[in-house]
Amino acid sequence: MTAPTRTIADALAAINAEIADACREAGRARADVTLIAVSKTFGVAAIEQAIAAGQAVFGENRVQETKAKWPALKEKHPALELHLIGPLQSNKAKEALALFDAIHSVDRPSLCEALAKEIMRQNRRPLLFVEINTGAEAQKAGVRPDEADAFLARCRDSYGLEISGLMCIPPFDQAPAPHFALTAKIAARNGLKLLSMGMSADFATAIQFGATHVRVGSAIFGARH
Ligand SMILES: *Cc1c(COP(=O)(O)O)cnc(C)c1O
Repeated sequence: MTAPTRTIADALAAINAEIADACREAGRARADVTLIAVSKTFGVAAIEQAIAAGQAVFGENRVQETKAKWPALKEKHPALELHLIGPLQSNKAKEALALFDAIHSVDRPSLCEALAKEIMRQNRRPLLFVEINTGAEAQKAGVRPDEADAFLARCRDSYGLEISGLMCIPPFDQAPAPHFALTAKIAARNGLKLLSMGMSADFATAIQFGATHVRVGSAIFGARH
């Protein structure tokens, strides 16, 4: 009754081909775009399939889930890179810094303070992205666009944090392109090189607008339950 499902390796190959096409169309180098395979809710077996297919960069959105899944995987595959793409509570900054190589959700002073302290204590240098709430949605995390420049200055001047880029999650019911454009504009005027934007449905568009990190989950691993 069930048709043979596409394997994770097939899906990764297809997405890598689409990323290469999008880079070519945008006149960008393929090496300038990192595919983050978002493995939240999926188990170690699925992640191992992606690793076997050559994927080395993964994204998770919860500290607790990451603690359960990843220490053993990292021990087995030390070169893997792990990105936190979901919101981070200040009281989890310590655990997050121990687990992740990049944090995409820096968005408030209390978190900056906690991260700065742990970066010193643990002597870790994760890549840091400030999340921009480009749609200024009340329920959503992130810094509002009109407060972004001041927040970035505060990260640097008050907390000594080196921010490498910006991240955005466009409102689900709107065309993403204007949100990618706005995020790219804020990054450019603040001298930031990295842009974490684009998910399964819109990563090719994000690459047109300069994404350096695309976060793709369901198009690789299938629907989440
Ligand atoms: C889950 C998630 C993704 C991946 O979404 P897909 O649509 O499954 O590709 C990307 N970014 C963030 C912040 C997420 O939480």
